[in-house]
Amino acid sequence: MISSKTWAILSKGLIKEWDVVLSKIDAEEIKQLTKGMTSEDYYQEQLMGVDAYTKRIEQIVADNKDIISTKSLDALKSALGLVDTELAKIGEVDFKAILNQDELLLRSESLTDLNDTMLKGLVKQSVNKHLKIVNSIGNSLPTQVIASGKVIRQERVKAIVDGISAQINKPTGALNSPPNVVYSNGRQVSFRTYMEMSSRTAIQSLATEKLEQSTDQLGIIFFLASEHSDCADDHRDYQGKIYVKRNWQTIIKQAELIPRIREFINSKQLMFFEDVIEKPIWFTKRPNCRHRLVPITIKQALGNITELKQTLKTKKPGDYSKKNVKENYEALKQQRKNERKIRHWKDVKDNNMVLYERTKDINVLKEIKRADYFIKQYQAKQRELLQSTPALVREYAREDNVRMAKDLGIKKG
Ligand SMILES: [Zn+2]
Repeated sequence: MISSKTWAILSKGLIKEWDVVLSKIDAEEIKQLTKGMTSEDYYQEQLMGVDAYTKRIEQIVADNKDIISTKSLDALKSALGLVDTELAKIGEVDFKAILNQDELLLRSESLTDLNDTMLKGLVKQSVNKHLKIVNSIGNSLPTQVIASGKVIRQERVKAIVDGISAQINKPTGALNSPPNVVYSNGRQVSFRTYMEMSSRTAIQSLATEKLEQSTDQLGIIFFLASEHSDCADDHRDYQGKIYVKRNWQTIIKQAELIPRIREFINSKQLMFFEDVIEKPIWFTKRPNCRHRLVPITIKQALGNITELKQTLKTKKPGDYSKKNVKENYEALKQQRKNERKIRHWKDVKDNNMVLYERTKDINVLKEIKRADYFIKQYQAKQRELLQSTPALVREYAREDNVRMAKDLGIKKG
């Protein structure tokens, strides 16, 4: 069973490609808004340009669809490969890892459908957002007639640049954060989070399905949970324990073992595998959860568990006192928060750079410097946090965005 942490590693390529699409759409948006700024009919021309803008967004999405598909399939292959590795580790059963290509293609179809839905949603949202921005800027333009055409032109351009800048830099600005996805229950998450969660859930359930099918075939009924010293408070009681498949009696190959296994399950009060991975515990499935469920044989489950944990290395080294686990988990959450902040300010900076490239406006340059300041602030915070919490490891990829600063010929500060 792959952990969410492992998912984050094997899906790096996929997440990067989604970031590329989001950043290309932002850049296209800013470029579009800076078109025709000197024209008296700026607002009218922007409204007339919506169809062409929509086509360009559709083109960006179409251009990136294949690579997203490929990266999704790569992540799926890695996830299924991990399941094979896990199964091959069970020494006592004769298992040959086979990754059936037809089976894989069939499984990948549901992923492709998911990606298509997300990409379509992204186009729709981007165009809606664009219309809102155009209207907001259009309505804020100066309307008074000034004798000199030059003055009013300068004033108009300034109002437009300020309008775009507000969208990028004000917390309420439409370009200040990635688009949101609203669930039917009203909960809102950023598109990036939504994409990560949906892809992860889809791939994780495919990998889980494969693991369950294979272990059933092999007669595996027991799973051992890994242990971590930075685990969430509500997962603490579930780690390091053995879980059993609900329908274990129909899976095991040696019927004569049933009474002994029943006795073992009752005396240890084992919980069912299915109960622990689903609502409300979400063991191994929740974001940030590092837990794994390792398939083990009946002989291993009934034998010396301490030795088994050492052999399988399921218990990560560290201080397991309640206080320390709690502190480590709080620190981990803080680390993720800092990563989001660093990525956010890098996005803000890059959007400002697109705007600066198009307008050379001195105020936009100030916003770039401001973003730089916050990037450095949160990087310093992150260094401090990691120095004071040895259990944490800095993950630079999570602090990075993939924007196009290089393409613009601007040196990164
Ligand atoms: Zn966990």
